[in-house]
Amino acid sequence: MDQVTEVKNKTDIVTLIGSYITLKKTGSNFKANCPFHGEKTPSFVVSPERQIWHCFGCGKGGDAYQFLMEYEHMDFPEALRTLADKAGIQIIQKGFDSGLSSKKENIYKLNMLSQEFYHFLLTKHNIGIKALEYLDGRKIKNKTIQTYMLGFAPGSGVALVNYLQQKKKYKADDIVDAGLATKKGSRIVDFFRDRLIFPLYDHRNNVMGFSGRILNQRDDISKYINTRETLAYHKGSVFFGLNSSKEAIKKEDKAVVMEGELDVISAFQEGITNTVAIKGTALTEDQVSLLSRFTKNISLCFDSDKAGLEAMKRSLPILEKKNITTSVVVIPDGKDPDEAIKTNPIAFKKAVKHDIPVYDALLDILLKQYEVRTANGKKQIGDELLPHIAQISNEIVKEHYLRLLSKTIDTSEDVLLKEIERQEKKEIVEKPIVVEKEQKGREVLLEEYLTALLVQFPAPQDLLPGLLEFQRDYAWETGSFKKIITKLQDFILDNKDFSIKAFAGSLPQELLPAFDKSFLMPLPVLSDDQYKAEVEKTATEMYMLGLRSQIKKLTEEMKKLEKEEKEDDLRELQDKLSSLLLKLSQKTT
Ligand code: ZN
Repeated sequence: MDQVTEVKNKTDIVTLIGSYITLKKTGSNFKANCPFHGEKTPSFVVSPERQIWHCFGCGKGGDAYQFLMEYEHMDFPEALRTLADKAGIQIIQKGFDSGLSSKKENIYKLNMLSQEFYHFLLTKHNIGIKALEYLDGRKIKNKTIQTYMLGFAPGSGVALVNYLQQKKKYKADDIVDAGLATKKGSRIVDFFRDRLIFPLYDHRNNVMGFSGRILNQRDDISKYINTRETLAYHKGSVFFGLNSSKEAIKKEDKAVVMEGELDVISAFQEGITNTVAIKGTALTEDQVSLLSRFTKNISLCFDSDKAGLEAMKRSLPILEKKNITTSVVVIPDGKDPDEAIKTNPIAFKKAVKHDIPVYDALLDILLKQYEVRTANGKKQIGDELLPHIAQISNEIVKEHYLRLLSKTIDTSEDVLLKEIERQEKKEIVEKPIVVEKEQKGREVLLEEYLTALLVQFPAPQDLLPGLLEFQRDYAWETGSFKKIITKLQDFILDNKDFSIKAFAGSLPQELLPAFDKSFLMPLPVLSDDQYKAEVEKTATEMYMLGLRSQIKKLTEEMKKLEKEEKEDDLRELQDKLSSLLLKLSQKTT
């Protein structure tokens, strides 16, 4: 047995997936809301029997490895090592450590060394004194510096590269690939120079990259720079602080999302520990997915300026799509969180504790901005708020805000609904036409359904005889389902006792995804007789569809032959057509 199979056999997929999302037992399978696409009715199914998972909403599926790869964004070797560790198996088989994964791990190692180096310079070396003084001026305590492993990158431009090349014997190319240095002619120089360093961790405590802040305000360079995109660092999927706050987020079942590193650090010092910083101008979908693993409640605590308001508005559709309950921390005196905490920590803590549902907060802001008694003021408030209300996924919440808005601007709910409709129409006209996801034809749906009915029945041999007739006149759209059913028939002929496990084991590898999908497809609960009737009904519909499409083809061919005046051929087709029509009329009567 190879190690990939050994590790897989020692892994229980229900325990594994259950450690990430809440699974609910339904029949012999487990169900959940899919973690890979926003949904409210669960279509994500896990089978303990087959040790597989499949989502009928977005089509993703696979085994334990594929779940980890998808959920943790791991590549295969990483997923293998993770599961092997859990199972207590040491991977000795060669061939998994080459390529991208080891390169990524190399970057993590380099980043870890660099973090320690920067931290040492800040806390123990003379060169870090001015940076330490700067932090002291911002009232950042030693303990916080330790917690977040803050560091300092000197201005010389060679401090880190010298350390990594000479002391740690790393190659220049590897240091550049990690985003820690840039090439300058034949040599390399430090990427971060004369900056305060904030390490950026993923939630598994790997150092993905860094962000660097200048110490003295200068207009010619940016205040913050981040590691450029590397194998280990992807902008838009990182939070600052998540590794240290995730436990608090889980415990309080809420995450407070801020804009900057120093906001998070100041909040942490005041005992508000469930905070992260977005490191960008608005929450991205990747970030919301990541946070939603720890909580479904997010409190936005952005700067109370125009940019902060825009960030909030832009984050809203993404939060709504992922079913997050969103609120807003209204910062006292219109400052940024860091400032507000320093001026009045008690008032700030109160604001965090009494955060306001996001739509109430938006309405409050708009009421300050526009004159609610004038027609124009009402229009402005409606124009800004209605698109957000329209996308609220929960109907009760939606109606609540429609009613509130209706009262506040003294306009009937009917009119507000009409306005939403008008806005949506306008949007449809304005949006370029996008090709919708390919719609499955009726035939394909029936093929999927029939296959599921057959493979999920404990004794498919009782169902098959009735299907022989339809098989002759039906041209399958999906080759894999046709093959599965043919193989099922053969298998039943060859084996006296039927077992679905043995049947699955007899299938070639390429048919397994289609088989797994059929095996997990949610079916209605039916008695044996109803079940048989359902199979019969489905097969009959397919049979009729098959006949009709043959008839259509024949008539088209006949038209052609008529034009070409090929009497003999035409007569032959006419006979075929009559027999098909006869079959059709027999089935319909
Ligand atoms: Zn899905």
